[in-house]
Amino acid sequence: MLVAILNGDRIEAFNADRGAEYFCPKCENTVILKKGSKVIHHFAHHPQVNCAYAKGETLAHLAAKTVFLDEFRRRGLRTEAEYEIQSLPGDRRADVVVWSPKGSQYAIELQHTPIGVEEIEKRTFSYEAAEVIAIWLPFLRMDLQNDPRIMGNNEDSSVHISRYMVRPMEKWAFEYYGKRLWLYDPALLSLWSGNLLTNYSWRKGADWYDSDGNFCVSEGGMFPTTRWKDLSLEGPFALSDVRFSKRRDSRSTGKIAMRFPRIRGVLSTSPEPSATR
Ligand SMILES: [Zn+2]
Repeated sequence: MLVAILNGDRIEAFNADRGAEYFCPKCENTVILKKGSKVIHHFAHHPQVNCAYAKGETLAHLAAKTVFLDEFRRRGLRTEAEYEIQSLPGDRRADVVVWSPKGSQYAIELQHTPIGVEEIEKRTFSYEAAEVIAIWLPFLRMDLQNDPRIMGNNEDSSVHISRYMVRPMEKWAFEYYGKRLWLYDPALLSLWSGNLLTNYSWRKGADWYDSDGNFCVSEGGMFPTTRWKDLSLEGPFALSDVRFSKRRDSRSTGKIAMRFPRIRGVLSTSPEPSATR
């Protein structure tokens, strides 16, 4: 938890000093300020407290929120972490909320742990009800973070991952962003833009006699699989190059399983001129 209450106001852990009493915005119990050189500054509940906000949070998730908070404040935009949106079901906190200069609100959801499609949709429509534009960013899968092709990727080259088992939330996000899969890389503190392609696998040819004694042949070759996709990744894109915007539409994917709101978040990159200043 990055935000607690001090004297009735929100305070962020990195601005908090030891010695004061801080309270959880949800259960109103006192929380402990964790400040050290090796951990992201944060607040923690006392172990015996039973609170929805006390649920285990990964350090990677805390770090990601901090990174986005810093980036959008650097751009001079009002930005808040763990900001409550009253229309949201369950945990009402958006990971990070950014106000555009014109006053549009963007909620950035940094999804470290898998979330069901039903829950994503519910939250997205709740955001829309509050006129907030949702930006969903699943974390790059752990095995890919450590993949040498990702680690050693040079600029302007794409990384091709064959036989990628797509998570439901990724399939959803891919459709949401108009056939683009944006992923957050917590190791590089950057984003990847992905494309999901049909995976083809080699099937051996075979011949046999059927029950009537007829000789049968099936040709071998490359066949599309339904189990996997191929993931083609471009990036990494520095956060400072990433732009958010909104689009109004009512495009349907043709799949009943996925529904999208009228106002959708759009991600794009516009690299800043290099090394001129
Ligand atoms: Zn609490």
